[in-house]
Amino acid sequence: MLDIKFIRDNVDLVKQGAKNKRFDVDIDRLMELDVLRRELITEADSSRARRNEVAAAIPQASKDEKPALIEEGKTLKTKIQELEVRLTQVTEEYDALLLMVPNVALDEVPIGETDADNVTVRLVGEPKKLDFAPKDHEELGLTLGILDKERAIKFAGARSYLLRGPGALLELAITRLAMDILVEDGFEMILGPLMVNESAMKGTGFFPYGKEDTYHLEKDDKYLIGTSEVFLVSLNADEIIDESRLPILVAGYSPCFRREAGSAGKDTRGVYRVHQFTKVEQVVVCKNDPNESRALHERILGNAEKLMQRLELPYRVALACTGEIGLGQVLKHEIETWMPSREGYFETHSCSSLYDYQARRSQIRWRDSDGKIHFCYTLNNTMIASPRILIPLLENYQNADGSVTVPEALRPYMHGIERLEPKS
Ligand code: AMP
Repeated sequence: MLDIKFIRDNVDLVKQGAKNKRFDVDIDRLMELDVLRRELITEADSSRARRNEVAAAIPQASKDEKPALIEEGKTLKTKIQELEVRLTQVTEEYDALLLMVPNVALDEVPIGETDADNVTVRLVGEPKKLDFAPKDHEELGLTLGILDKERAIKFAGARSYLLRGPGALLELAITRLAMDILVEDGFEMILGPLMVNESAMKGTGFFPYGKEDTYHLEKDDKYLIGTSEVFLVSLNADEIIDESRLPILVAGYSPCFRREAGSAGKDTRGVYRVHQFTKVEQVVVCKNDPNESRALHERILGNAEKLMQRLELPYRVALACTGEIGLGQVLKHEIETWMPSREGYFETHSCSSLYDYQARRSQIRWRDSDGKIHFCYTLNNTMIASPRILIPLLENYQNADGSVTVPEALRPYMHGIERLEPKS
């Protein structure tokens, strides 16, 4: 959420920022409501003050003055009630609209509409030239007996899959390696709730826009999280953090649930886009200092790149354009990994800086040494998401005989399996 004062002082910038991000939000209406709300508050306050004066004057008033004062008191009571009803209505619309105003992207973010407008920052590693016709990950998964979509879809519906045997071990191995790198970098691992209240979804900025993409458990009015960022950020909600505790570095591991509401018919082959996947996520809460935030952005991006280098997968880092960055982000990088079957680099990670956008919504503040309170900044980055990462892993490590070599870095977690062999 943006500071209303910032919006008031920078209406054109905020409007242009929303347009660049392709969010359609009525800033003029928000400004109208802002004025109206302040007028109603002022009028209600002065009416309350007058009513108190009248109430205090009645006992001392003469017999002649009393009826008029009593009448005025009644009129004021009705007026205050009406003003309060009106204020509640206006505030509801104002709050809802304020939650929909996107954060303004930093100047370095390229203006664009789709991922074709993202800018490559660096390319690391080179795609191997295979001297045989490569299989895609779905075919490999099937012949290796590690991926079963057909049975999963039968009992769980479209975009379902299951990993078995070495496939399941592979996902757990990647997860363990990801966690090890983060723990070495000082992150605290957190396993949190997968079902949360609406306030957590709003506070982290996933609602209102992401509501359609979220599973709702109606009976209990809970929502299934689409990322552990929800509990990693929310655990600091409504707190004032002492300076000595910052930056807070936490990492979550969780299943992630997404309805993929806007993706009908898209990426149906394999496991690129599924309803449930697992993710190790990094979250940072720091001071409201752009330089510190930028250094931490590079640090969490660096952690994910370290993992990709340990896995020896070719990838590129891209700076996402305005049309590709979400509501709260001021800056986003993507790691895109080489996927032979798609003959290109495709997103496997996203690294975002949100400044105080989430912290304002979730009321996460810090106290400086002078006792002054500020909103924190937050950042997040995928450390690894599976099964999407299995796509480049299986496809880049496949051999002519249909087997797949297990990357060196994962072998310590694979119970002696160095190669996945096709089932005869
Ligand atoms: P996000 O939290 O949306 O930035 O996504 C982080 C990463 O999670 C993406 O880069 C993908 O690797 C993975 N991911 C996101 N959505 C899906 C999905 N529907 N199916 C599989 N993987 C996904």
